[in-house]
Amino acid sequence: MNINAVENCCGCLLCKELCPKKCISVVKDDLGHLNPRIDTEMCIDCGICAKSCPEMTPISLNEISEVFAGWDKENTAREKSSSGGAATLIALKFVEGGGIVYGCAFVQPFGFKHIRCTDHESLERLRGSKYVQSDTQECWNLLRADLKEDRNVLFIGTPCQVAAAKRTFRNTENLYTIDLICHGVPSVDMLVNSLPKKLNKDEVSNVTFRDSTNFQLKFFAPGNNVIYTRPLHKDWYLKGFFTALYYRDSCYNCKYAQGNRTGDITLGDFWGINDCCIAKEEEKGISAIIINSEKGNILLSSINGQAKLLKRDSVEVKKGNKQLNHPSRKSIRTRLFKTFIKVFGFNTAVKMSLPEIAIKSLITGLRKK
Ligand SMILES: Cc1cc2nc3c(=O)[nH]c(=O)nc-3n(C[C@H](O)[C@H](O)[C@H](O)COP(=O)(O)OP(=O)(O)OC[C@H]3O[C@@H](n4cnc5c(N)ncnc54)[C@H](O)[C@@H]3O)c2cc1C
Repeated sequence: MNINAVENCCGCLLCKELCPKKCISVVKDDLGHLNPRIDTEMCIDCGICAKSCPEMTPISLNEISEVFAGWDKENTAREKSSSGGAATLIALKFVEGGGIVYGCAFVQPFGFKHIRCTDHESLERLRGSKYVQSDTQECWNLLRADLKEDRNVLFIGTPCQVAAAKRTFRNTENLYTIDLICHGVPSVDMLVNSLPKKLNKDEVSNVTFRDSTNFQLKFFAPGNNVIYTRPLHKDWYLKGFFTALYYRDSCYNCKYAQGNRTGDITLGDFWGINDCCIAKEEEKGISAIIINSEKGNILLSSINGQAKLLKRDSVEVKKGNKQLNHPSRKSIRTRLFKTFIKVFGFNTAVKMSLPEIAIKSLITGLRKK
């Protein structure tokens, strides 16, 4: 059995890195998602790729033990983060304790990758959710080497990426993990297709997708100068993202989008919190902090002094967050989009696939004139 038999590839590409014959290459599908392909002439049928694959050989999951709503008390981590800033607070403490953190950053040439962070400066690049698939292939060998040397490692990523991290090395005693509640990932190609041709991508030094709870795409050049912004109502990429139009096929069948979790902690937005006393905190961003193991408790206790933590229950967090119950649903629109994009290009294809949203935004635009 080898990776060519995978039905639901999540694109972690751990198989490519672990292949002893280096006979796995990467090919793109129609929507720009990366997939492994084995050269069957070179393959020696060792089966390492299938055994390491988080889809073909799923990991055992952790049950939720406790749930908190939380945020950075001083607001410094929170302001630049996506929800309450919990990922940043935990990562900072982990590095201060001599550990190594892996997470997603913007990189040049234009893309998003998991990088290795050992100091505050590199951690700064992880802040904020990037609503695209992060390329993890280069991080696996570094992570294995760190674990081999008995270094403490914290890996932050989507649930399938965390499952892959747990597959990298047999002894994962020093591996701590945070999975994000995830509704699915588009490819970087989709984001690039949505950009105006005149935007010089080589100039970009960072990209953000939201300021706290306000979703807005922003591109920065060195010196933190904003060179491009796109508010949500004009953003066909984010509209397609929120309506699950062009995720990886595996996202619609994700075995990790459920109540039991891959990570020691699961982080997400605490949508629809049922507590009027903290309603005003919602617009600044509240993290859902879900503890799934003893290691999760250790990570949480490291930020006890810095984070405001309120105990909640799992029914409440599951009610506000569908991806703690089931994967995003694939609709006929995805199939239509795949046909439309080949003929009409990205923005028109999204509008044609989401006609009710396109008409609404046309009317809003006309009213504003
Ligand atoms: C693709 C995607 C889909 C998501 N869907 C949901 C959802 O449906 N419901 C929900 O409640 N929350 C969702 N989230 C999580 C949410 O947006 C926040 O990331 C989460 O609440 C953590 O916020 P924070 O303030 O603690 O993190 P921050 O302090 O802002 O740090 C962000 C962390 O996320 C990691 N990260 C950022 N982008 C990616 C990426 N593309 N791939 C892997 N890791 C990444 C970074 O490494 C960093 O550690 C999603 C995140 C992503 C990336």
